[in-house]
Amino acid sequence: MKTRGLALVASLTMIVASLAGCGSTSSTSSKSSSSSKSSSKKTEVTSGASKTQYSSMKDLKSKYDVVIVGGGGAGMSAALAAKEKGLKPVILEKMPVAGGNTLKASSGMNASETKVQKKAGIKDTNDKFYQETLAGGHGTNDKKMLRFFVDHSASAVDWLDGMGIKLTNLTITGGMSVKRTHRPADGSAVGGYLVNGLLKNVKKQAIPIYVNADVKKINETDGKVAGVKVTFDQDKTKTISSKAVIVTTGGFGASKAMIKKYRPDLSKYVTTNQAGSTGDGIKMITDLGGYTVDMSKIQIHPTVYQKPPYLVGEAVRGEGGILVNTKGERFTNEMGTRDVVSAAINKQPDKYAYVLFDGGVKQRVTAINQYEKKGMVESGATLGDLAKKLNVPSSTLEKTVQAWNTDVKVKKDAQYARTTGMDHQLNTPKYYAIKIAPGIHYTMGGVKINPQTEVLKKSGQAIPGLYAAGEVTGGLHGDNRIGGNSVAEIVIFGRQAGTQVAKYVK
Ligand SMILES: Cc1cc2nc3c(=O)[nH]c(=O)nc-3n(C[C@H](O)[C@H](O)[C@H](O)COP(=O)(O)OP(=O)(O)OC[C@H]3O[C@@H](n4cnc5c(N)ncnc54)[C@H](O)[C@@H]3O)c2cc1C
Repeated sequence: MKTRGLALVASLTMIVASLAGCGSTSSTSSKSSSSSKSSSKKTEVTSGASKTQYSSMKDLKSKYDVVIVGGGGAGMSAALAAKEKGLKPVILEKMPVAGGNTLKASSGMNASETKVQKKAGIKDTNDKFYQETLAGGHGTNDKKMLRFFVDHSASAVDWLDGMGIKLTNLTITGGMSVKRTHRPADGSAVGGYLVNGLLKNVKKQAIPIYVNADVKKINETDGKVAGVKVTFDQDKTKTISSKAVIVTTGGFGASKAMIKKYRPDLSKYVTTNQAGSTGDGIKMITDLGGYTVDMSKIQIHPTVYQKPPYLVGEAVRGEGGILVNTKGERFTNEMGTRDVVSAAINKQPDKYAYVLFDGGVKQRVTAINQYEKKGMVESGATLGDLAKKLNVPSSTLEKTVQAWNTDVKVKKDAQYARTTGMDHQLNTPKYYAIKIAPGIHYTMGGVKINPQTEVLKKSGQAIPGLYAAGEVTGGLHGDNRIGGNSVAEIVIFGRQAGTQVAKYVK
């Protein structure tokens, strides 16, 4: 127990360290699940904490009520809900730190009819959230999943709040008509804050969480899930038995092989995903007869700094930023859905653009401080100074911003009919720009589950004891995920998985 406590402290320490890079130390690498070895070494160098984590493996038992595969947001939410219901869960995470892509989430968590919205005087309904998400997904979303999702979004925010994870600041993402993206009070990136908060609760509830624990196989006995086979300390394996398994291994945005298989046209794109997002859960589940949906639906995010890949969160536009091309002109409604904005950037002569903003946006989106530290941001005391640095015509850039400020004042975008993220003019020096282009960001496809998070076979039958939640699943988002909906999904369905598994196990 003592070792496990130390391992958690080490994890928390590393997360605090990684917050400096929240939004990503992205990699185009397609490291497979067997990459724990090299990544562990890397972590030793940067944190010096992983030794403690390895030694905690001595505490790993051979039996738990439920094994949770993957220590991101969905996995930790599932574990906490299962524990709430009286189960003894274990979390197995293959990377040297917990958090997965959740750790990188920047803009926030969408939810409707929340106390936070009510306090801010924002009128919203679950039906509106449903309709706008459906429109964003071009009507292709799994409607039963979506209904459950919107109807449980406010209670998910409350559930987090009850654990001391307070998302009390609101912003807006593309495709949404009202502020329903919940983020930490200071406007900072949601991912690090959420992972840190979940980990603290995991520790408080004495839930064991093991890192560098790479699950290779889900075992079955007589057609029922019976546990997992896990590899750890680089070459040791252990079989753990459990009545149920919850798979929360995230997406496959960092698997070059899977991207090539499902979307060869995207093979050359950079990815914003962490190296562990290699689709392991999808492979393990399909081996047991589960099936996948929407695998070719891969979201490219319009605003990715390319070298090294690093996401520029949607909140920068939501808080007033605009996009300009190399001529210094706007070219699209910046708050359109991600697919539409990405396509607009790819139509520009050099297939890149700049996110342009002022000191006011910088103040409202504290994640920008990280972008600055990483050297991604150009700045100028005036728009003319900035234009020179970007090598764009200064008179055009000045005219573009002037026209935009008039549009903001009269609340009417004369050029591209943008209606949101227009609360503030761009007139507070300094002025800033980040060079961006689209990058692979999110895999909409995954294994098919029902709203009870049971993994389904093509026949519609559930595989007894097998549950999944989060980015490893497919269908909720349809053709196009709305920014902020994934963090909501992992909390809502992670929590649901833990709750449902308790009914199954008892
Ligand atoms: C840069 C970036 C910014 C984002 N910003 C937002 C945002 O603001 N709002 C929003 O809604 N969404 C956002 N997203 C998307 C969102 O963060 C993710 O979709 C979501 O966090 C996925 O959560 P998850 O728990 O399903 O998976 P993850 O958080 O990725 O966790 C899965 C974990 O499983 C582990 N794992 C994988 N295979 C195995 C195995 N075989 N054995 C053991 N462990 C394994 C992985 O290493 C990983 O730690 C963002 C994504 C990125 C990349």
